[in-house]
Amino acid sequence: MQLTSDITITKSSESRIHEVDFSHLEFGRHTTDHMFVADYKNGEWQSPQIIPYSNLSLNPVTLALHYGQTVFEGMKAFRMKDKRVSIFRPFKHLERFNTSLTRMCMPNVPEDLFIHGIHKLVEIDRAWVPSEEGSSLYIRPFMIASEERFGVKVSDEYKFIIVAGPVGPYYATPLRLKVEREYVRAARGGTGYAKCGGNYGGAFLPTQLAKQDGYDQVMWTDATEHKYIEECGTMNLLFRINDLIVTPTLSSSILDGVTRDSILTLAGNMDFEIEKRQVSVEEISEAFKGNIMREAFGAGTAAVVAPVQTINIDGEDFDLPAWNEESFMMQVKLKLSNIRRGVDADNYEWNYII
Ligand SMILES: *Cc1c(COP(=O)(O)O)cnc(C)c1O
Repeated sequence: MQLTSDITITKSSESRIHEVDFSHLEFGRHTTDHMFVADYKNGEWQSPQIIPYSNLSLNPVTLALHYGQTVFEGMKAFRMKDKRVSIFRPFKHLERFNTSLTRMCMPNVPEDLFIHGIHKLVEIDRAWVPSEEGSSLYIRPFMIASEERFGVKVSDEYKFIIVAGPVGPYYATPLRLKVEREYVRAARGGTGYAKCGGNYGGAFLPTQLAKQDGYDQVMWTDATEHKYIEECGTMNLLFRINDLIVTPTLSSSILDGVTRDSILTLAGNMDFEIEKRQVSVEEISEAFKGNIMREAFGAGTAAVVAPVQTINIDGEDFDLPAWNEESFMMQVKLKLSNIRRGVDADNYEWNYII
């Protein structure tokens, strides 16, 4: 059992916070002064530490560099209206982290190590949690296979690391998406439901090709028939057809997004009917043709909600109506933000307060 008191803390001698312009935060540009590191060796987690943010030194035959045993998470800490700091659903992220780790034959992280690691890091780098509306501290826990050896094998050693960095509000430039009918992100039985490194590397080429055609992302379809919609980029997809909210049902090829889950929970308390089921490309194109497609959006930690403007289906562009504050996606985004900032009651115990 790792307790908070077991984490060895070495503070950085000088803060880099003055280098940051908090009114113009770019996603992924800055990291805080410290990082959390723990090692897995001889079948157990050892020496959890918080140290000044620094480069890793890796042997060239470190297994993660060759065979892709890597898993990551992404969550956010928010500055509440009373200045306290809250982390959004860390236990749910831990659950998914361990699901991903199990798929990749990597050791699970015990709850106290994960939660205390994040807690201590955010506490120490608390000044980095922005207070500007819509800004937050992005937290990136990840694990890599760290055994040094040639040859394809399951690593016996791992590093679990947590880093964090301030991020600004996501300016919702509506997305142009292209339905992908050739390339595949994930097949049933594969690793699509795990947040493991290889899934993202494999998605770059088809995404670049879609960009050359003038789209921002591809809308993935199922690997067998290319008939059913899965997700896009690092976001789950939701549609509003008339007053029905539909989203693809989870499967082994779709990541179980915490934002998706939170939105569906909140939608249950609004005047919307929700259906989690297979969504075919044909249903989407019929809805456009029948003028009942009212909203489409991506849901993920980074953007929260990303409105879709255009969906290209087999060469034809279909445009969504302009969104406004009354749109379901904007109402639900505001509700989420109010819960996180402590403006609305946290009825589901989603906030972990530091
Ligand atoms: C991270 C991710 C999501 C969104 O998950 P959240 O928990 O909402 O951030 C969706 N799809 C993929 C492929 C992802 O990597």
